[in-house]
Amino acid sequence: MKISLTKVGYFKAKSTPFQVLNLDGTLFYKSTEKSKGFFSLPKGEYLLDFPFKKVGNFRTLKQLPKYERCIPRPRKFKFILKENPNKCSIFLEKGVIIFDKDLWESLSNLQRKFVLLHEYGHYYYKSEVKCDIFAKHHLLKLGYNKSQIAAIDFHILGNSEHSISRKLESFNAIKNY
Ligand SMILES: [Zn+2]
Repeated sequence: MKISLTKVGYFKAKSTPFQVLNLDGTLFYKSTEKSKGFFSLPKGEYLLDFPFKKVGNFRTLKQLPKYERCIPRPRKFKFILKENPNKCSIFLEKGVIIFDKDLWESLSNLQRKFVLLHEYGHYYYKSEVKCDIFAKHHLLKLGYNKSQIAAIDFHILGNSEHSISRKLESFNAIKNY
């Protein structure tokens, strides 16, 4: 069955496991083994070939970490795809984002959203981990599921000791939501 959502939707599958597909047949979300059947979907169109019902918002978002600064966000952003050894950079006052072309092409939609939301986080935070938490918070708000969000940065950040502790910290912040 095809469903169209104009805003985030909350659901419960009548049995598990189950999977939600994009209209092109690719996998959008797969329930975990321990799933009780609750899942959310961001606005968009999906294929759901299992029994489910719509439920109320079951997700309560925690408060974001206290802002460290508040730089006014320009009304318009300029998005540039080109080589960038720093992967993705934002010039906060000018509202210019330079995203590495190869990285952009290697990422899924969700991973791209995560990187962009992380950059927006820098309007409020200096700390990289807090920007990660900001990005994940907003992805949950948009309707992505925790397991989808938990998988994101394991593909983006490296495996240096510093990167691993950053991944763990932002993962734990979201896990308890
Ligand atoms: Zn950053």
